[in-house]
Amino acid sequence: MNADDLASWIRHTAELVSADADRLTRLDAAIGDGDHGLNLDRGFRAAVEALPADVPPGKVLITAGRAIVSKTGGASGPLYGTALRRAGKAMGDEGEVDAAGLGAALRAGLEGVVELGKAAEGDKTMIDALAPAVAAYEAALAEGSGLAGCVRAAAEAAAKGADGTVPMRARKGRASYLGARSEGHMDPGASSTALVLQALADVAGEG
Ligand code: ADP
Ligand code: MG
Repeated sequence: MNADDLASWIRHTAELVSADADRLTRLDAAIGDGDHGLNLDRGFRAAVEALPADVPPGKVLITAGRAIVSKTGGASGPLYGTALRRAGKAMGDEGEVDAAGLGAALRAGLEGVVELGKAAEGDKTMIDALAPAVAAYEAALAEGSGLAGCVRAAAEAAAKGADGTVPMRARKGRASYLGARSEGHMDPGASSTALVLQALADVAGEG
């Protein structure tokens, strides 16, 4: 993937988030404060506006991540922003990122979210979509899949991971204040993470 492909990823994510903002906000209204769709819609719009021209792929993600951090309220802004910045940093100054490079970038993004949010799998957060997505990507890569196949595996695992948050009891973030009452609802951040990876799969599938 080149810088244009990554810019397309950010743009397409913004479209999917905008189309699903009400649903994300409803999920957050059930176990949080009902702002997740609004937060991410604002964040990814700002990221699209900030997209730079004539820079390497990594810089596209670093710039998008910075815009998200500065424009997105809530816990999710710094978490998504950090993920994109770390992923971008991992890409270095290369003009193209291959399947292994994208996998390493996704792994770095996950590590950034874990470092900042201190959540583990099973805590009912975006980690429950992102961690299995990265694992599925790496497994597909090890089996010899190309970039599009790896990303498709990651997107499927993220969607499954988001579904898997429904019965969980939240142990991190605002939803954790609800204790047992957080059970029976999908985590909004896990659901939006599935959208972000779906957007990547859509863009990678075109290439
Ligand atoms: P806020 O909770 O501050 O209103 P948002 O509603 O935008 O922020 O985002 C909520 C989402 O953020 C949750 O659904 C969860 O996936 C994610 N989240 C919250 N805290 C953490 C954390 N410590 N680590 C990872 N993800 C988290
Ligand atoms: Mg919220």
